[in-house]
Parts: sequence; C-alpha cells; structure tokens
Amino acid sequence: MTDTPDPTSQTPPAPDPGPAVAALETIVSLSKRRGFIFPSSEIYGGINAVWDYGPLGVELKNNVKRAWWRAMVQERDDIVGLDAGILMAPQVWVTSGHVASFSDPLVECESCHRRFRLDELPGAESLTQTELRDPGIVDRLGLRCPVDEGKLSAPRRFNLMFRTHMGPVEEEAALVYLRPETAQGIYVNFRNVRESSRKKLPFGIAQIGKAFRNEISPGNFVFRMREFEQMEMQYFVKPETASAHFEAWMPRRRAWYEQYGVNPARLRFREHAPDELAHYAKKAVDVEYRFPFGWKELEGIHNRGDWDLGRHQQATGENLEYFDQATGEHYVPWIVETSAGADRAAFTFLIDAYREEEVRGETRVVLSLHPDLAPYKVAVLPLLKKRPEIVELCHRIRDDLKRDMMAVYDDTASIGKLYRRQDEIGTPYCVTVDVDSLEDHAVTVRDRDSMEQVRVSVDQVRRYLLERLGITRD
Ligand code: ATP
Repeated sequence: MTDTPDPTSQTPPAPDPGPAVAALETIVSLSKRRGFIFPSSEIYGGINAVWDYGPLGVELKNNVKRAWWRAMVQERDDIVGLDAGILMAPQVWVTSGHVASFSDPLVECESCHRRFRLDELPGAESLTQTELRDPGIVDRLGLRCPVDEGKLSAPRRFNLMFRTHMGPVEEEAALVYLRPETAQGIYVNFRNVRESSRKKLPFGIAQIGKAFRNEISPGNFVFRMREFEQMEMQYFVKPETASAHFEAWMPRRRAWYEQYGVNPARLRFREHAPDELAHYAKKAVDVEYRFPFGWKELEGIHNRGDWDLGRHQQATGENLEYFDQATGEHYVPWIVETSAGADRAAFTFLIDAYREEEVRGETRVVLSLHPDLAPYKVAVLPLLKKRPEIVELCHRIRDDLKRDMMAVYDDTASIGKLYRRQDEIGTPYCVTVDVDSLEDHAVTVRDRDSMEQVRVSVDQVRRYLLERLGITRD
C-alpha cells in the first residue's frame, strides 16, 4: 500500500542508470498527440486520475495484457484463467482486512485544506510504517504544506476503497465496494476453479481486470490512477514449499519485462522492510523500474501464507482445505502472488522504448517497441497517391495482411513524413508501393530500427513479415 523507499533493503544496490526519458512531459505529449492516452472527460475539464486509452493506446495495452496472459496462462500447464466480478459481497472486504486497514497516511493543510499522502511529502519519503502512524511525526519533523507552507494536521489513516450502493435503496445495508484489487475474486473462487479444472497443487489462477483506489495523491500520468487495471496471479502451494516458489517467481517476472524490451539496468528488486509488509504478507519483493520520477514499483511479488484462504474459510464456514492425495494430508494452501499493473506495464514499455536519434541532421523519434507490443505491425504506404494503380495495390496488400496482424494504410503526407510518423508510434515495418512495383511486382520493406530497405516481391510480403514478426502461421 505504500512505496516508501528503503535503500538499505534493496538487493543488490544498483547504480542509477538514469531514466530512458528525462522529462515525463515528453511521453505525456506524445501520448496525447498520437492517440495513446487522453485525460478522461477532457471537454468537461477532466477528472483527476482517470485516463482514457486512444486508438494506439488500446492496441498497446491489449498487447501487454495478451503478452502477460501468454506467459502466465497459455504457456503454462499449471495456471488457469478467471474473470470475476468487480462488485463482490461486501463481507469479502471485511474478511480480507481491507475495510479495517486498506489505508494510507493522510495529512491535511489547516489553511488551504489540501490533502497529501504523508509518505510522499518532501522529507517524509523514507519514514517507516511505524513512524507514519506516529501522531507527533509532523511536528517532530517540522513538515509544512508544500503548496502554501501552512500547518499540517497529524496523520490519520484514509481508507482507499470506493463505495457505492447496490440496488434501488441507498442505505448502509446496500453498501458495496468497487474492488481495490482483483485477487479476492480469485480466493473466493479457489474451490470452484480447483474442482472444475481438477488441478493439483501447486497451481495458479490468473486474472486481468479493473481495480479502483481512491488514492490520496494520484499522479505521474498513468503511474498512479484511481481506476486502473491489474494483472494478478495467485499460486496455491503446499505451505513448506512457499518460500521456494516465491524465489522462483521473482526472476521469472523480472525476465518477462526484459523479454519485452525493458532495459535490465532499469529494473531492480526491492524487498519490503518488516514493518512495511502488508497485514497478509510473510515476504514481499517489488520489481521496480527507474521511471523519470525515480525508482518505483512495477509489480509486487508476495508470499501471503494461508492468510487469505484461512480467513475466508473462517468467515464462511466453507472448507477451503486441500486434500493432498499423495501424502494423505489436509491443509489450507499458502499463496504466492504476482501482482502487476497493466497500465503501469504499458507505461513502462512506452517510456523504455522511446529514443531520439540524429539522422542526417534531423531528430528522429522512434518507439522501439517489441513487435508483439507495437500497436501496428505494418503500415502500407503509397509513394504516389495520385496513381490509382499504386493505391489499389496498397489496399490489396493491406487486405492480405490484416487477417494476421494490425496493418494500416496511410497516404496523408510525403513518404519521408509517413516513415517518421510510423517510427514515432513504434510500427516495426513499412511497406512502400512505388511506380516500379507496377512493373516488377515488388515493394520496399523498411525496418523501423535499422531503417534498412529491402525489395520483396508482392506475393512474398506476407510471409516475409510473418517470419520477422515471429507470427507463426501456415
Ligand atoms: P503503491 O505502493 O504504489 O501504492 P501497492 O503496493 O499498493 O502500490 P499493490 O497493491 O501491490 O500496489 O498493487 C499491485 C500492482 O498494481 C502495483 O505494482 C501496480 O503496478 C498496480 N497499481 C496499484 N495501484 C495502482 C494505481 N493507483 N494506479 C495504477 N496502477 C496501480
């Protein structure tokens, strides 16, 4: 619930590689200009901490979710998927501990009444959880309002769950919560999934879905939002094996970010200090990324012990134990969780792919996104849009490609500009049809990263691209 930095617990101490992009604004403006991410409800002045994904953003985020699902479900025999409801029985959140303690330390300025998360105030970033609960901490450190220097209140715990009412009566009895994490939907379905899929331990349940948190100080673009999407996997194991599974999941999850192009130097693990651990956690390690605003959590890996199933079993009276046929034992499984943010991951891939290069005296902006993540895989471009035969051949090629991949046609600028535009949104290949194509039945295929151009015959273009993009089809 907090990202209090604790440099002493980070293993190993990594030198600061610096961010991939110096100013966050570079990514924010590219996102807006090219249609990746827009402020929500912008024509009404916006709504704080909610963002909308535009035509390119939705492709990128879908690709990120697909890549995660592939690694976590499709390629594993021991993990199955789930899509549970956002609204759940309210008692779930009492049992899980969220009603009592899903909170952050809030301080309020007594003159301007702005509210801040205490551990994000300058001078309070490295406080321990015990210190963050200390009523005298603000006075002791002499903390003041960062906006108008006003006096700040003592910290109080602010619960981050959004509440609403179910059914036509807005009364306390009809109170429900928008889920603040997807994990609980998995725990309450543990028995349903295990019995229906006939899985033996160890096995996992994976889920991607929206979560909502009424964050005190959202910000840094899509890093901290009030409505966001999580990609969570809960791995159910025999208690004695939980530590070993935890250790095995750490490198796997880090490797996933590297596989999809994140510079390994900008990734590190950070272990939570004992007093920073959430109420359920036996051990927690964050995968952190070096964002333009510092090292921050990308994903959490947690050993949750038997807290979740044990508590739900106790609260419902339902038997959530596992019967181990091999040993004849009955026990409540322990859980190792990997909890990532789809928005944070997409944001990270976007930042880390951003490059500015000098090409013949001009600056070329390139998003060197992994081909699996790139919104468009190929753009088909006419050298001369006034020649109907050229345009027609472009459409024929595009129609042939679109069954297998996102392929777009564009003729709204000169070829040089069209290349730059595709580079800037990360399209790995451009196919250009020129006058010669009408004679030699070949086109130019340009590679985004090397800018190399090769001539490929029209009837081989599809196979050529499928091979290079790693899409296997007959
Ligand atoms: P933080 O310390 O940043 O508040 P947390 O430790 O509470 O985060 P978890 O509860 O472990 O985060 O959530 C798992 C993942 O969900 C995070 O690693 C992050 O990728 C994502 N996530 C959590 N809160 C947000 C948010 N407000 N906006 C976007 N993504 C989020």
